[in-house]
Amino acid sequence: MSNDEWAQRDANVVWHGFTQMDSYTENSPIVVDRTDGRYVIDTEGRRYLDAISSLWVTTLGHRVPELDDALVAQLQRGAHTTMLGNGNTIVVELSEALARVVPVDDPHFLYASDGASAVEQALKIAFQYWVNRGVTGRNTFLGFGGAYHGDTIGALSLGGGGFGTSIFDPLRFPVLRAPEFADPACFDVACQMIADHPTELAAAIIEPLVQGASGMQMCDPTDVARLAATCKEHDVLLICDEIATGFGRTGTLFASELAGIRPDLLCLGKGMTAGYLPMSVTAASGDVFDAFLGPDLSEKTLYHGHSYSGNALAAAVALRHLELIDAWDVLANVRERSEELEQLLDDRIAPLSQVKDTRVRGLMSGIDLAPPRDGLRWGRRASAGAVERGVLVRPIGDTVILMPPLTITSEELHTTVRAVHESIADLEP
Ligand SMILES: *Cc1c(COP(=O)(O)O)cnc(C)c1O
Repeated sequence: MSNDEWAQRDANVVWHGFTQMDSYTENSPIVVDRTDGRYVIDTEGRRYLDAISSLWVTTLGHRVPELDDALVAQLQRGAHTTMLGNGNTIVVELSEALARVVPVDDPHFLYASDGASAVEQALKIAFQYWVNRGVTGRNTFLGFGGAYHGDTIGALSLGGGGFGTSIFDPLRFPVLRAPEFADPACFDVACQMIADHPTELAAAIIEPLVQGASGMQMCDPTDVARLAATCKEHDVLLICDEIATGFGRTGTLFASELAGIRPDLLCLGKGMTAGYLPMSVTAASGDVFDAFLGPDLSEKTLYHGHSYSGNALAAAVALRHLELIDAWDVLANVRERSEELEQLLDDRIAPLSQVKDTRVRGLMSGIDLAPPRDGLRWGRRASAGAVERGVLVRPIGDTVILMPPLTITSEELHTTVRAVHESIADLEP
């Protein structure tokens, strides 16, 4: 059966997120039949380099034998048991391993399945933290313009809006909104807001160093450090959303390390299981965790939990993944490839007349296109051109995103940039 036929069967019954289903089949979707290393393969056997890591989750490539083995071994011990009131050895082992590496003091881990749920957990924990401590009025949050924290209503409220979600504005709760990263004054304003409203703020939330979904907007580590210091000074909790930046994306295991900060709450997801299984987690500092201790069945308890929290299969893969990042020295590859990517974008992509700006941090990068007028869908067309050339990318508006697996080779990086270069150079008004 051809890829087009599969796409039609797909369109008949599947509803794809962030996708206009009326034009789904016209945008040449790839229906993946199988995967192989850093490639996905469609139903007609065509291979595509997965230069977006399957929407930022695949870290080591697809079908990693060591991860497959960890998954199968756990399968033989049991796929899942509940975390509500009971435990599971593999989740204990994963949590101990995470505790050694996350930039959170005396961390305790509350698991969920999606990034948005990890953010929901963080915001509810931050709110209840103050209630449990007998502090009233800490009912709001500070977030940044352009921020993206997920698509559930709480996460959407913390986020900056946009991405076509403004229809939900009537449902979003209000937050204090600092300007977006592109505004050079954004951290001055954010710190001033914290200083002006400390008794109203439960927490401030930030994507440290890179706002992924807003098209790879970047900020300076020293500004993130300044925000963290201001939170500390005014006794406001700090939530770091490292769902996109975590697990090596920026060249350190966590972006917070580059800023030298230790948030009170840390949200992780996406690359956590190397792209294998849905797992996210909220790490809370010992100080935050302790505020929830009290008599059994008391109001101090966090009454929140998900059915698949601490899924054993996901935990086994996540644990093995952490070991492999170390054993394979993945972070060194991220740093080397990052420098190479920056050079390639400077040399080959930035000079194109169709390009406005390029940005790289670790293996997160954005290429802003400069369409002469609205409605040309250049982001879409540039990406489609790269896909035709065997490199799978997906734009955010008129920004082409390159987010390759952390194990990408120099040769594959050149292949990626070549395809993107040709497809951008082809763009005409
Ligand atoms: C993807 C993302 C989320 C949401 O994660 P989901 O697993 O898609 O719910 C939240 N925050 C950031 C920074 C993200 O990149």
